[in-house]
Amino acid sequence: MTASNPLRRLPAVARVLEEPLLQDVRQQQGPRLTDAVRQLLAGLRRRLQSGEPVSAEMLEPAWLAQQALLAVQRAQEPAVRPVINATGIVLHTNLGRAPLSESAARAAYEAARHYVNLEIDLEQGVRSHRQELVRPLLCRLSGAEAATVVNNCAAATILVLRTVASGREVVVSRGQLIEIGGSFRIPEILAVSGAVLREVGTTNITRLSDYERAIGPHTAALMRIHTSNYRIRGFTRAVTLEELVSLGRRYKLPVIDDIGSGLAVDLSAWGLAGEPLLAASLRAGADLVVCSGDKLFGGPQAGLIFGKKEWIQRLERDPFFRAVRPDKMTLAALAATLHHYQHPDQAITEVPVLRLLTWPLEQLQQRCQKVAERLRQQALPAHIAVQAQTAYAGGGSLPEVALPTFVICLRPHLGTEEQWAHRLRTGHPPVVVRRAQGGLWLDLRTVLPHQEEALIQRLGEVAAELAASVASASPQSPELSSDQPSS
Ligand SMILES: *Cc1c(COP(=O)(O)O)cnc(C)c1O
Repeated sequence: MTASNPLRRLPAVARVLEEPLLQDVRQQQGPRLTDAVRQLLAGLRRRLQSGEPVSAEMLEPAWLAQQALLAVQRAQEPAVRPVINATGIVLHTNLGRAPLSESAARAAYEAARHYVNLEIDLEQGVRSHRQELVRPLLCRLSGAEAATVVNNCAAATILVLRTVASGREVVVSRGQLIEIGGSFRIPEILAVSGAVLREVGTTNITRLSDYERAIGPHTAALMRIHTSNYRIRGFTRAVTLEELVSLGRRYKLPVIDDIGSGLAVDLSAWGLAGEPLLAASLRAGADLVVCSGDKLFGGPQAGLIFGKKEWIQRLERDPFFRAVRPDKMTLAALAATLHHYQHPDQAITEVPVLRLLTWPLEQLQQRCQKVAERLRQQALPAHIAVQAQTAYAGGGSLPEVALPTFVICLRPHLGTEEQWAHRLRTGHPPVVVRRAQGGLWLDLRTVLPHQEEALIQRLGEVAAELAASVASASPQSPELSSDQPSS
C-alpha cells in the first residue's frame, strides 16, 4: 500500500465498534453489529477501489456507527409490516389487497394466539367441521344451498374443475380465456385441474350455438369466467349466464361461474358497475360459483365456493380439498367479515374495501386540503397542490371504472422525486406513492384515517433527511444505500 492508497482512509472495524452510540447495543447485538460494520466497510472499499466518489462524512466512524445501527434495527423489524398505501388503488395486489375491518383483524388475532373451536362442537362435545363456522353465513349472504372455503380463488377454480370435469371437457368462450397477474391463466388452470379446455367462439363474438355445437359425449360442464381485468368492446357478443344455464339444463350439464372479485352488494349507485353480483349468479342458476375473498368481498385471502349441496359435498370429499383448506385465522377473519354483510348498508360502511371505494368525493377533497395545509405549515420544501385525478379499484376489478379522486401533488424543491419516493418507501412506516408526470401523488383514499398523522410525519422527516444530506455531503456524494430504488 502506498500513502496515496485511498483504502487507507477507511477506519478499522474495531474503531467503529468503539463509538459511544453502539455501546448499549453491543451488549445484545455484538455479532450482528460487527457484521453490519464489516458490510458497510466492504461497500465503501468497493466504491473507493472503483474510484466512485465517497464523501469524507462516510468515512467517519460516527457516521458508520449510525448506519450500522440502522442496519441492525432494520434487520429486527418484522418481515411483514404495515405500509401506508397512498396510491389510491384500493385493491393493490402487491400491498396485500383488502385491509380487514377492525373486528375481522381482531378475530384473526384472537384466533392466532389461542386454541379455538375450529373443529369441535362445543355444545355436543363432538368433532365438527371447520367449514360449519362460516357455511351458514355464506349461504345466507348468497342464497346458495351450500358453500365452502379454500385458500384462494385459484385453488377454488382448480378444485371445482377437478371435481366436475377431470379428464373431460369444459366449454369456455375464447373471449373469456383470461390471465390475471401472477400466472393465473385459464388454459393453464384447466390443464392443472385435469380438465380439457374446449374453446368456442371468437375473441369478440361467442353465441349460444357455439357452446351447443361443442357439446358432446366428453363434455362435463359449461363455464363462464368474468373478464376481470379487461373488457372487449365494439362489435361484441357474449352469452348471458341465464342463457348458458338454460343450455346446461337442456343437456344436463353443470354451469360453473368464476366471478372473480366477489362483489356481494350492489355498488352501482356509486357508479361502480360492471362486476357480477354474487347473489345474481346463484339466482341465474349457476351450479357452482367461485370468487376471491380478498378482492371486492373485502375479507381475508380465500376462495369462496357456492352451489348445490351435492356438488359442495363432492368437492369436500376430494383429497385436494384438504390441501387447500383455510386456517383458523382466515376463517375467523372471514366469519367476522361476513357479519358485516348482514345488512348491505352496514357492509358499505364497515367493510374497508367498500368504504374506501364509496368514499364521498368532497370528503376526499377536504382531507387532501387539510393535509396539504399541514404540509405547507411545516414548510415542506415542495410545491404542494391539491388536484382532481382518477384512480382505479385495482386487483382485477372494475377495470373500466375511473374513480374520480383527489390527490396531493408534491413537486420537490429539494432532492429528486426518485429520492423522495425511495426514502418514503424505505422509511418507518413505509409509504408507497404514485409517481406521475409532474410530481408525487398522494391519494388519501387508501391512506387509512389512523395513518394520516404518520404520513405527514414521514414527509417532514424525509424533507429533514434530504436537507441534512445536502448540507453535509459533498455535492456529488451519492447515498450510501446499496439497494437501488425500483419503481
Ligand atoms: C382474481 C381472479 C381469480 C384468482 O383469484 P385469487 O384469489 O387471486 O386466487 C380467478 N378468477 C377471476 C375471474 C379473478 O378475477
